Amino acid sequence: MKLPERALTDPDHPIARLPDEWEQTVTAWGEPAYRGRQIFEWIHRHGVLDPAEMSNLPKALRARLVQDGVSWPLALVSSHVSDDRTNKLLLGMPDGERVETVLIPQLQDPSVVTQCVSSQVGCAMGCVFCASGVAGLKRQMSTGEIVAQVLLGRRELESDQRIRNVVFMGMGEPLHNYEALARALVLLTHPAGIDLSKRRVTVSTSGLVRQIDRLAQDFGGQVQLAVSLHAVRDEDRSAIMPINRKYGLDELMGCLRRYPLSKRQRITIEYTLIEGTNDSVADATAMVNLLRGIPVKVNLIPMNPISESDLRAPDASHVTRFQKCLTERGMSVFVRKTRGDDVAAACGQLAFHPPERGKAPSRTRQRTTISS
Ligand code: SAH
Ligand code: SF4
Repeated sequence: MKLPERALTDPDHPIARLPDEWEQTVTAWGEPAYRGRQIFEWIHRHGVLDPAEMSNLPKALRARLVQDGVSWPLALVSSHVSDDRTNKLLLGMPDGERVETVLIPQLQDPSVVTQCVSSQVGCAMGCVFCASGVAGLKRQMSTGEIVAQVLLGRRELESDQRIRNVVFMGMGEPLHNYEALARALVLLTHPAGIDLSKRRVTVSTSGLVRQIDRLAQDFGGQVQLAVSLHAVRDEDRSAIMPINRKYGLDELMGCLRRYPLSKRQRITIEYTLIEGTNDSVADATAMVNLLRGIPVKVNLIPMNPISESDLRAPDASHVTRFQKCLTERGMSVFVRKTRGDDVAAACGQLAFHPPERGKAPSRTRQRTTISS
């Protein structure tokens, strides 16, 4: 994926350098350019961050890489595996902040894994049903930190598993950290590195219209877009998602209509069902009208409980009623099965702290740091 130059700001960590930037770096150190590509491959294809392990590089270059700060920007603190093999990783950063990322094996084929990654420590958007939103924004994550989640995630897979999808549905609003995100998208899909298929990287947003337009412009619609809708009238949406006061539904729908999609591609609409708030038949029919003419698939997510709020999911029968109402009107609808809820790894439950002791997960490994 090649980005227009203006979209790529300087790399914020050696992990964030692209192959040609590595070539420039090593050339400036007096090394041949091909060494730059070798370093990129060690980091992104092989997940090796310790220069001592980069066996095909000369000793002097390895020493130079150590000086350059080639090392992990975050370390695995602990991992918690739930009954369905969902694995929540708690990662620590040098300034003491922590984020979480979750490895979610497909139910039908557990060798195929989706990784849910974080893009910020906390979130500034303040959605009332979301643990990250209630906590507020602590700081942005760097591109190096974002990509390192996937490099570390790969190390935690079982031998038969591979990461096929990466979804920006962890902590944070990815489009509120646009520059770091854009570079991370280029790196995650780089053929000489992690090489994820572009269509298998999903950016989920609460609806930052200006940045969705920018994403459309910079990536030509190649990145899969998911939009958190959660309410179908401005008044209702503003009450649970403050961003709606800046970008109302009219503006958001206009933006989705112009998002460049290939023929079979659709925008994912995420809709967290909250009892008594957005789960009525009238809401479902209003949603059909609102989304008319936009190629979408709808993901219904019964709300996962968070300790900061009394809001909760409707009964299963209401979820089914809502789903039926949409499907009868021709919409494509999935109810997202809650995964890893026994270790608080489900959507919107990613927070700053590890799971409470009383809710011990079925299998827990504790780690301190990773040295390389
Ligand atoms: N900030 C982005 C991505 C992270 S949240 C966004 O809002 O889209 C990923 C998804 O989880 C979003 O659809 C979000 O609305 C949803 N979510 C947040 N809290 C939730 C909760 N308690 N229960 C269910 N879904 C939740
Ligand atoms: Fe932020 Fe998304 Fe949570 Fe809203 S739902 S507070 S945008 S992480």
